[in-house]
Amino acid sequence: MISKNSPTADTHCHLTAKVYDSDRNEVIQRALDSGIRWMVIPGMDLASSRQAVELAQEYTNIYAAVGIHPHNADGWTSSHSLELTELANSEHVVAIGEIGLDYYRNYSTRENQMLAFRSQLDLATQNNLPVIIHNRDATKDVMAELEFWISGISETLKTKAGVLHAFSADLETAERAIQTGFYIGIAGPISYQSATDLQEIAAKLPITRIITETDSPFLTPHPNRGKRNEPSNVNTVVEHLSIIIKKDYDSTAEITSKNATTLFGWKNGKN
Ligand SMILES: [Zn+2]
Repeated sequence: MISKNSPTADTHCHLTAKVYDSDRNEVIQRALDSGIRWMVIPGMDLASSRQAVELAQEYTNIYAAVGIHPHNADGWTSSHSLELTELANSEHVVAIGEIGLDYYRNYSTRENQMLAFRSQLDLATQNNLPVIIHNRDATKDVMAELEFWISGISETLKTKAGVLHAFSADLETAERAIQTGFYIGIAGPISYQSATDLQEIAAKLPITRIITETDSPFLTPHPNRGKRNEPSNVNTVVEHLSIIIKKDYDSTAEITSKNATTLFGWKNGKN
């Protein structure tokens, strides 16, 4: 466990996942003990969105995002919009997510994924909230939707429109997303020896547009790849990133935390 001076942010951890049912409190405590000061729990469906808000109410350092993941888009109805809107009114909600398109798994039809994605981008506009974007093998459609969406949002939101989480596309896409107003979410794969593309991309991006995450319980950093991931491991992500961008750990932590603070705003007087 790495714990240094500067606090860090895990901007994407699924602490609502069943794999934490037996020791969720310990997992959260370990994160706090490691200096993780901000954790964002994204919703996957209505139940996990509700649970994310509940956890954010319970823990000072936890924030929620609410949304329907593209895997669950087949169940999308207009009543989802109503319930998500109600949840988004909570002072603990900092984003709409995670939403997007997944043409790799295709657990939902592409038509339904697009319907849920567009509806939730509208929700973000109405609630003036940034979006947490899931993109797997769908870069062309995701970027087209985001570039269209950005034209209709407030000026303040335009500069901090959201994050392409657990970024896995190419440099051109990252640069285009940053130009559109997005941040790039760097997760555990930055530590994989095979991930030279991602490492090269991270080295070329402006550090002011990078935020860190674990995507727990998935994407566990090296050398624990394959095991259950947890938020305390975001410090390993920060460490790998710091080596790649040739900065020391603390300034990397400081800058990426500041970026996350700018993006999500950490409401409710919590800090
Ligand atoms: Zn996720």
